Amino acid sequence: MDATNAEIPQDLVQEEALWFPDGTLVLRAETHLFRVFPGILAAKSPVFQDMLSFPQPQNGESYDGCPLVHLPDSAADMTHFLKAIFHYEYFEPWPTKLAFEIVAGVLRMSQKYQVDHLRKRALVHLSRRYPISLNEFGCTYEWEDPIAVANLARHVAADWILPVVLSSCAWLDPAKLLDGSLTPADALLCFRARDQLQTYWSSKVLHFLCTPSRILGCKTPEFCAHLRLEFRSQAEDWCEEHVRVLNLWDEETWDGMEEPCDVCLTSMKSANAAGRQECWNNLPNLFGLPNWQTLLNMRKAALGFLRTSPVSRITAQNIIQRNLAMKL
Ligand SMILES: [Zn+2]
Repeated sequence: MDATNAEIPQDLVQEEALWFPDGTLVLRAETHLFRVFPGILAAKSPVFQDMLSFPQPQNGESYDGCPLVHLPDSAADMTHFLKAIFHYEYFEPWPTKLAFEIVAGVLRMSQKYQVDHLRKRALVHLSRRYPISLNEFGCTYEWEDPIAVANLARHVAADWILPVVLSSCAWLDPAKLLDGSLTPADALLCFRARDQLQTYWSSKVLHFLCTPSRILGCKTPEFCAHLRLEFRSQAEDWCEEHVRVLNLWDEETWDGMEEPCDVCLTSMKSANAAGRQECWNNLPNLFGLPNWQTLLNMRKAALGFLRTSPVSRITAQNIIQRNLAMKL
């Protein structure tokens, strides 16, 4: 008889996809219950193996005729994690695009319960969305909430994604940076970085639009000077839209722009690329992180080699178009 069922609150939820009628163990996380197979859990997770190897006390809690084990984890994280274990198709490897909540839940729980293959798969999902080279920048599918991603990266020590994700945080509304969702230490880093990004770094990336005043060998000086003035005005508008520094002006920005003479175009493209590269190289340092090579080594140690897979580039123009579309 389930004598202890009477003590269990009635607002409990049996998680339908994780309620196997022939399961012999009930797990509880917050108000959610999961009826599962202990042998499979023990085979996947050494932590569960240890936990379940203790004999169940005679008068221990039970539910639906099965021993009931309380877990201190969030119901949402545990749901994603158990689905990844018991439903093979639920947590497919990259390049399948998964919601942040799923990857975060599986990553937190697989780290805690030491399910290494899931932890690694989740880390690949995380790492694929945040570039580690300037070449990949703008080609990845970053999730919408950089604060949640930064917190997750800190939690699992995935430092290699922090330069990019913290630079996204730095562009958020100051009130958002101070609402407590970001740690005080990271909020401080973001505020300091924000000052530098808005002043010194923007001018670095856009330096090529002003200097030199006349490019040596220019074929149409008057036309090119006029065009560069127009470019500057356009770039200043983008600065006001708070487009991230490295998105301000990149290789794709030239597409669809009126072109200066070929001498100026070559010179400006080269100066623009050098300015962006210098900013990229300094990005980790701006957030108190080790240099890119060290971060890359950390990622390799955790995940092995990940081949780059560029997709369509996200430029300043289409970021602004997307922002405008969201406002409409
Ligand atoms: Zn020219």
